[in-house]
Amino acid sequence: MTSIQEETKPHFVLVPLAAQGHLIPMVDMAHVLAERGLRISLITTPANAARIKPIIDRVHELELPIQFVELAFPGAKFGLPEGCESMELIPRGFFRNFFDAVYFLCEPLELFLKSLQSAPNCMITDMSNAWTGPVARKLGIPRVIFHGPSCFYISAAHNLEVHKVYDHISNSLEFVRVPDFPVEVQVNKMQTPGFFNFPGFEDIRRMILEEESTSDGIVVNTFDELEKPFIEHYERVIAKRVWTIGPTCLCNKENNTKSIRGNKETVDRNEVLTWLDQKDVGSVLYSNFGSAAYSNPFQLIEIASGLEASKRPFILVIKKKEIVPEVEKWLSEGFEERVKDRGLLLTGWAPQMVILSHPAVGGFMTHCGWNSILEAVSMGVPMITWPHFTDQFLNEKLVVDVLKIGISIGVKMPDLGNDVVMVNRRDVETAALALMDGGNEGRERRDRARDLADKAKKAVEEQGSSWKNMADMISYFVGHGRNNEEKK
Ligand code: UDP
Repeated sequence: MTSIQEETKPHFVLVPLAAQGHLIPMVDMAHVLAERGLRISLITTPANAARIKPIIDRVHELELPIQFVELAFPGAKFGLPEGCESMELIPRGFFRNFFDAVYFLCEPLELFLKSLQSAPNCMITDMSNAWTGPVARKLGIPRVIFHGPSCFYISAAHNLEVHKVYDHISNSLEFVRVPDFPVEVQVNKMQTPGFFNFPGFEDIRRMILEEESTSDGIVVNTFDELEKPFIEHYERVIAKRVWTIGPTCLCNKENNTKSIRGNKETVDRNEVLTWLDQKDVGSVLYSNFGSAAYSNPFQLIEIASGLEASKRPFILVIKKKEIVPEVEKWLSEGFEERVKDRGLLLTGWAPQMVILSHPAVGGFMTHCGWNSILEAVSMGVPMITWPHFTDQFLNEKLVVDVLKIGISIGVKMPDLGNDVVMVNRRDVETAALALMDGGNEGRERRDRARDLADKAKKAVEEQGSSWKNMADMISYFVGHGRNNEEKK
């Protein structure tokens, strides 16, 4: 129940895509907007609400005016197993069924919005949730698109789309230049297919692009000092307002809040902190590939062996799904014993923000998900980049070639989930040594990473670039900014 005082606050409705990498930044965004004086309704579904229960409890503890609205998820209607309400839980072959179920949420969303005493000031909806467009139009609610990845990626993908670059290639491995882009970048369709550019999704893809073009603006979790040329470029090519308001992860100030992002924490935070406290500043390499990328058993053994060979302290996060009998056997046959003084194996969902913000952590081997990159940037941690799919190959280019705060592990092909070893132990070892030491180059890389972390913190502080952008976005929908512009 919201109090009368809260009822009078401006109201934004947030509609994240049910996937950890999309939900986490939107929950953080809700947190920031609520701290800036708004009332928030965050749309979710019952199984997702159960998964993020610790976050919901924390929001109540902090007395933030955020309401989590559960819409019944029609998974069974589309043949999905019970509880399969988030993207990383979808069984192989059920991707389309999942999106069909998600797109069916338009009816319960409309009912919820109609039940409100007054229409919300604005809806912020994940770019993949194009189904919210017709609902917003029907009820006359302004709608902003939330883009999860970097502006570097979004604007490159936009240009590839608009210039129909992939219509002229003979095979998906052929490299092409991203047209009309601030820097020279070569991509291929295999690495960077673009938004939902795969068979069976043509209708959803069309709708997503249409709904982006008719939206009232775009909000992106990034900050001006990180990628200004690409933010300005995107603003120009999309011809809309683009509000950059990140890094939103910095709203999580204490370890308590940092550790309960996304999934329920399955790793004991205190055990990790005690282990890290015993290590030298900047000495630990942390390896984690986000919520959706998986390593097959052969690849996992190569990663673990490479980290072992580097002789550096490390934390290796392994997903529960990756612990298959071969891996379990291999780990117990000497590996765990050999690295016990300097390697920490974590199984399940790790408190990533807590780990990255610990002074002992000096490097991050990442799959280049945008949230992971922003978290590393915010904490001043340089990276080994190992992209797996979607936006990750372009995010890698931003980190390595433009920002120069990372080293590429060298993968050129997306990980399609086959039992292939993409990177061998020697390459993992070489990259680990180069990142954690690397002589002058390594020192300069670490200095640049620290400098960006300072800029990230300043961006979200009062009067910082992201702080101002958020103020501008709020006044555009709450004040008279939008109405005045429409009259012009
Ligand atoms: N994450 C986490 N613990 C884990 C794995 C992931 O807290 O063990 C969080 C991570 O901090 C980030 C998000 O999950 O906020 C992953 O988002 P990202 O964009 O990096 O990758 P995705 O999961 O979307 O591929």
